[in-house]
Amino acid sequence: MAHREARPRAERERVLRPVRRCCPGCGRRMGIRYENRRTVATLDGLVRLRLKVRRCGDAGCARYRRPYRPEGEGAIALPQHEFGLDVIALVGALRYREHRSVPEIHRALLGRNVTVCERTVTNLLDRYDELVATVVDEPQRAALATQRRVVLAIDGLQPDVGHEVLWVIRDCLSGQVLLARSLLSAATADLTGLLREVTAAIGVPVAGVVSDGQHSVRCAVEDALPDVPHQLCHFHYLREAALPIFEADRHAKKELKKQVRGIRPIERAVEGRDDPEAEAVRGYGAAVRSALTDDGRPPLAASGLRLHARLEAIAGSLGRVEERGD
Ligand SMILES: [Zn+2]
Repeated sequence: MAHREARPRAERERVLRPVRRCCPGCGRRMGIRYENRRTVATLDGLVRLRLKVRRCGDAGCARYRRPYRPEGEGAIALPQHEFGLDVIALVGALRYREHRSVPEIHRALLGRNVTVCERTVTNLLDRYDELVATVVDEPQRAALATQRRVVLAIDGLQPDVGHEVLWVIRDCLSGQVLLARSLLSAATADLTGLLREVTAAIGVPVAGVVSDGQHSVRCAVEDALPDVPHQLCHFHYLREAALPIFEADRHAKKELKKQVRGIRPIERAVEGRDDPEAEAVRGYGAAVRSALTDDGRPPLAASGLRLHARLEAIAGSLGRVEERGD
């Protein structure tokens, strides 16, 4: 994007790894060789992406040392874009589905905590127009012919305006968008049509498909590309799987917190005393307080479970003190 704005630091970090491990050229295993970083403004706030990049290490392979980036990267933001695809999808939906003006879209984005100036909204609208106008033209076909194959990624971005979904089909080897279309449904037949349109236009075989594994997408891939391996993007998969656990954990944490509410009066009772008993009470008070603020990062760390473990340790310690009768 030509126009840059000063932005605050990203509040979240996300690590992405390529789902595919085998080199699309020679089939040998590609190791992770380095990491790229970029920051993207999404509807969920500023996200710092840490991108693990694989490379083929076989000197005889046509893809020797060519980077293979995480397939999920392009679902979050297009190459060189500092705004997320979700923001672009929302801008497009507000403009064309809701017929909002640029100042109105600007206000809507600010309302969603996306820091932009009005001129940037115009740029984002241009990006949306370019995106949905994407066609695989002769130069792109020639470039694909040199790389001899594509690894397709298909993603549906749903800005919460109506039921519109912006479907984007990309090639993970070149990072290029091959087709983007806004549909009012996620029906298998429609997606099958999009996949067929792309495969007819590219003129090279599809070596694999990566998606978040949504049911209609799975069926569409089976219909349009039978026998092509279809892999699931772990990030989306994990997030979906972790959601119920995260909710249960949050509830457990809330309940646990209720049980350790009375710390302040206990601490107040020994205020101004410096005998060993008062010191011990203060020590336990501090332990409980620090346990309460020790938050894990979902979905991989469950803060409710962690709080439970810490409170159990404190209770165990208190129990031992009681037994000794100190
Ligand atoms: Zn290779």
